[in-house]
Amino acid sequence: MQIQHNISLLPHNTFGIDVTANIIASYNSEEDLANAVKTCFHALAKPLLHIGEGSNLLFTKDFPGTVLLSKIVYVEKLSQSGRQVIVRAGSGMNMDDFIAHAISKGWYGLENLSKIPGQVGASAVQNIGAYGVEVGNCIHAVNCISLSDGSNKTFTHDECEFSYRHSIFKSREYKGKYAITSVDYCLNMDFNPNLDYAGIRQQISSAGIDAQHISAKELREIIIQIRDSKLPDPKVLGNAGSFFMNPIVDRLTFERLTTTYPNIPKYELSDNLVKIPAAWLIEQSGWKGRSHGRAAVHHIQPLVLVNTGGATGNEICELSDMVRDSVFAKFGISIKPEVNFI
Ligand SMILES: Cc1cc2nc3c(=O)[nH]c(=O)nc-3n(C[C@H](O)[C@H](O)[C@H](O)COP(=O)(O)OP(=O)(O)OC[C@H]3O[C@@H](n4cnc5c(N)ncnc54)[C@H](O)[C@@H]3O)c2cc1C
Repeated sequence: MQIQHNISLLPHNTFGIDVTANIIASYNSEEDLANAVKTCFHALAKPLLHIGEGSNLLFTKDFPGTVLLSKIVYVEKLSQSGRQVIVRAGSGMNMDDFIAHAISKGWYGLENLSKIPGQVGASAVQNIGAYGVEVGNCIHAVNCISLSDGSNKTFTHDECEFSYRHSIFKSREYKGKYAITSVDYCLNMDFNPNLDYAGIRQQISSAGIDAQHISAKELREIIIQIRDSKLPDPKVLGNAGSFFMNPIVDRLTFERLTTTYPNIPKYELSDNLVKIPAAWLIEQSGWKGRSHGRAAVHHIQPLVLVNTGGATGNEICELSDMVRDSVFAKFGISIKPEVNFI
């Protein structure tokens, strides 16, 4: 295990917040981590915080404890049954590199998640999703090391309790208790594209591709084009993607809202539940493109809060509170941050 003291977290978070960690500890293998937990963890500054690429984190102050980083990067096919494969990827691997690799091998199911920043380990924590696909549907198991005693533990798909941007690893009981060292994905050897989500078919047709015969590689390129046209690049403008989750309301609440706002957009979830795009609520509340100090609501995608240069985590927190208050005052709906505040 490699230990570094008093290290800036600037290269470790996509918001571009300049804070320092007391210690950064990186491990190269499961054995390396398990051994360190059993022998030297007691001497490390606490609390422990495992991060990936920091693309869903907002640091609000210097971190007094130890930041853990996985450097485990590999892909291994574990088994094949009929036209399905189980493939294991190391938790420190960049998720998009894994998706590109999977497509090159003819393992399908993750194309719509192309170019979401972050690592394989965090994909399971966050249950990342985009364009009608959630990674949890393709996760077979999540392999971990306990941070209290160094033992191995595998969570099956059902034990992960995946739901919208949520998993057991975010729950009060399990948060921060385990380091994910690898994730097993169940992928398909037949390509069944999922094209029925916001703008995919339109982009396919503008690219002159026949949707009936699109390849996985072409779909990946289409998804990347759509994302590039809508989302700010964190290398240019610090951000953590969607800052807020889309609120889910019951049908009665939704119908009450439609009497005042007949054009309110929605995604039907069930007979009684409706998801409302938080971006629309924020835009209607007048926040699109507005700033607070060095933090701002993005001028194209209002779901994204950005660091316009040198913002502190607290400035972004204050902006987040102002946006939430406005949305609540106008619609009576509470929007919750997707980003992890540290
Ligand atoms: C421009 C942009 C676009 C985005 N678009 C999307 C999108 O379309 N859909 C979507 O779902 N998300 C999106 N995100 C959010 C982000 O990419 C995901 O949440 C991603 O999974 C975070 O990965 P990470 O490696 O950066 O994790 P981090 O942000 O570093 O950590 C996220 C959480 O996972 C935990 N964690 C990380 N690694 C481990 C590990 N090995 N073991 C245990 N716990 C761990 C951390 O403690 C933290 O709680 C976007 C972000 C950006 C910047």
